[in-house]
Amino acid sequence: MELKHGIHKFEGMTGVNCYWTTSDEGVVVIDTANPKSETKILDQLKAGGKSTEDVKLIIITHADIDHLGSAAELKNLTGAKIAIHESDAAILKGEEPMKEAQGFFKFIFKIMMGFFKFRTVDPDILLKDGDEIAGFKVLHTPGHTKGSIMLFKPNQLLITGDTLLSDSHAQPRGPIKLFTPDMKQAWSSIRKLHDLNFEMMLPGHGKPILENAGEKVRVLMEKKHLP
Ligand SMILES: [Zn+2]
Repeated sequence: MELKHGIHKFEGMTGVNCYWTTSDEGVVVIDTANPKSETKILDQLKAGGKSTEDVKLIIITHADIDHLGSAAELKNLTGAKIAIHESDAAILKGEEPMKEAQGFFKFIFKIMMGFFKFRTVDPDILLKDGDEIAGFKVLHTPGHTKGSIMLFKPNQLLITGDTLLSDSHAQPRGPIKLFTPDMKQAWSSIRKLHDLNFEMMLPGHGKPILENAGEKVRVLMEKKHLP
C-alpha cells in the first residue's frame, strides 16, 4: 500500500512494519520482517509492478529478528546489497548474539527465536551517522540496539525502526512512545530529532503517523523536558 512520498508499506508482515520505495538505482526494501517473509515481500513488489531483479538495496534499521529475519534470503533471490549500521553488523553476520528482549517481550522473543532461525549474511554497506543512502539521511539512534538507525527525508518522513513507535493505546502520553532496553541512551538519541521537520513517522511497529508527525515528536520531547 502506498502511503505518501513514494513510500509503500508491506501488508500482513505479522506484527512488524516493513517499507519499500524506489531510488535512482531501483527498489529499496527497508526491513525484511521475520524469517520466511521473502515470498510475501516479493509477491507484493510484483503486485506493485516491480520484479525480483528491480530490488537493489535492503536497508536494515536494526538487528532484531523481526527486522532482519529474511535479509539473507532476499539478498540471495534479488542480488540486492544489504546496508546496516556498523554497530549492528556483527549480529547480522552471526558473530554476536542478538540482544534479548525484556519483560513481556522476552516471552514473545523466546517463542519467535524458537520458531525462526534466521540465516546470517555479510552486509555490503556499513552505515554511519550522517551517511546518505538511497535519498535518505542516516541518523544513528542507539538505545533499542547499539546500531539502531532512523532514515530521514527532510519535510517528508522519518522511518524510526523500533526506537520510536506509534502507540494508539498510550494516551494521554501521546501517540508516540519509546521502546528500548536502554531508555537513557534512547532519549539522548531522540534529542537529534528536535529540529527535524517531517510529515510522516513510519515506525517498526504500530500505525504509521501520516500527518504532523514531527510536531507530535516535539510534543513528546517537551513533556520529557528534552532537550
Ligand atoms: Zn521490532
